[in-house]
Amino acid sequence: MTRPDGLPAKTDVVVIGAGVIGLSVAFALRKEGRDVVVLDRGRAGGGASHGNCGTLTPSHALPLAQPGVISKALKWMIRRDAPLYVQPRFDPALWAWLLKFAGRCNEASVRQVGAAKARLLIDSRVRLRDWIRNEQFACEFEERGQLAVYRDDRTFTAHQANADLLREFGIRIEARSGAEARRMSPGLRADVVAGHFYPGDAEIRPDRYVAELLAAARSLGVTVLENTAVDGFVQEQTRITGVRVEAHEIGAKQVVLASGVLAPQLAGKLGIKLPIQPGKGYSVTFTAPKRAPALPLVLRERAVCVTPWASGFRLGSTMEFSGLSERLNPIRIAALKRGAAEYLEEPCGPVELEQWYGFRPMTFDDLPIIGPAPRHEGLWLAAGHGMLGMSLSAGSRYRIGSTDQSSPPSTPKMRSRDMNMLQMSANRPIAMTT
Ligand SMILES: Cc1cc2nc3c(=O)[nH]c(=O)nc-3n(C[C@H](O)[C@H](O)[C@H](O)COP(=O)(O)OP(=O)(O)OC[C@H]3O[C@@H](n4cnc5c(N)ncnc54)[C@H](O)[C@@H]3O)c2cc1C
Repeated sequence: MTRPDGLPAKTDVVVIGAGVIGLSVAFALRKEGRDVVVLDRGRAGGGASHGNCGTLTPSHALPLAQPGVISKALKWMIRRDAPLYVQPRFDPALWAWLLKFAGRCNEASVRQVGAAKARLLIDSRVRLRDWIRNEQFACEFEERGQLAVYRDDRTFTAHQANADLLREFGIRIEARSGAEARRMSPGLRADVVAGHFYPGDAEIRPDRYVAELLAAARSLGVTVLENTAVDGFVQEQTRITGVRVEAHEIGAKQVVLASGVLAPQLAGKLGIKLPIQPGKGYSVTFTAPKRAPALPLVLRERAVCVTPWASGFRLGSTMEFSGLSERLNPIRIAALKRGAAEYLEEPCGPVELEQWYGFRPMTFDDLPIIGPAPRHEGLWLAAGHGMLGMSLSAGSRYRIGSTDQSSPPSTPKMRSRDMNMLQMSANRPIAMTT
């Protein structure tokens, strides 16, 4: 079989997946002098990194697995427009994952995971800003914070405990009255009763950010090949020495698995079980309405995220555990618009530009899986970034990079039965050796 154009016989590092995670890893490694080839089965940036909400949010450090979530999810199983939906179907892997998730719905775990994630998020937030500034990425980056708004005093009160916990982790949070929230972001309806302002949060236009990262990586000499699916690994006993693309091999000193929600499929070929399930989310993008919010918003009771940019306006969210279903469910899009209309005087822009869905790579404990594979030398994992892959992206390379190990964010020690890969590798410095 003829070798496809541009497919090298060997390189230094192969990165599988050109989403925000794979590209961040590739960009950072190239900056450190490594030769990097990135392979993507489709279009670079065409996966979950395309139409997400683009908020950079250390304020979202607490996991989805919280006390009370399971009973809510069970109630919502009969509501097709619920913000969190588990499709009732026979899927042993999903139910095993949900069982582990349920085991994490307690205060001790929320604290433990929140502390670890806050450190990663704060670290990544700073690195992202530095990359954007230094490389002059045109991606509508704004550091104006985020405002969560409430229509019900009881929801606001219920969120106080989480706000206090986040403050312990170093996240700045300012409580606002309804009137103050409206002054900060005109266009909020009169029945918004309170808000939480997170001054440390920021936003980007995600598709533009990824396009800029891709261009920067290429201009530094990273080879990025699209429509090039990796089918498996080349190995010498337990050492990974390359990847396979159809009948061809690419030799590499290291391979980084950054294929998002599909990472378990490839890892499975090596007997590695990655605890990742697709958490399907939706977004709808408009041209900017006249009274667009002045800040990114979280519409708390409806769990809708609103991101206003100069170039447009996006409503996004919903978490659906329905496998890798490729259906763009109109009920979900309608629920986003209906939710926004409860909080915003002008919930939609004049022209609808795009309806979209993407799969968040969700781990049961909401911690990403970053570091060397436990039993396969030469293989590195960078997957499972869940609801916060944009926010965690620049920090994810940090734990994979070879030289910069100053004050790495540490993560908690956990009992072995609770471990995911992050915790396995977290309490020792990680250096990618050549
Ligand atoms: C509705 C929604 C809103 C969100 N909002 C936010 C937000 O506001 N802030 C935030 O931080 N995060 C947000 N996220 C989460 C974020 O989008 C993801 O965490 C992030 O995009 C994951 O990046 P990734 O690179 O791991 O995956 P992807 O972007 O999916 O990239 C993985 C790539 O791997 C490729 N691939 C897969 N298998 C192979 C193979 N065998 N060979 C070669 N290539 C392969 C795929 O084609 C894909 O391009 C949101 C997600 C959704 C769905």
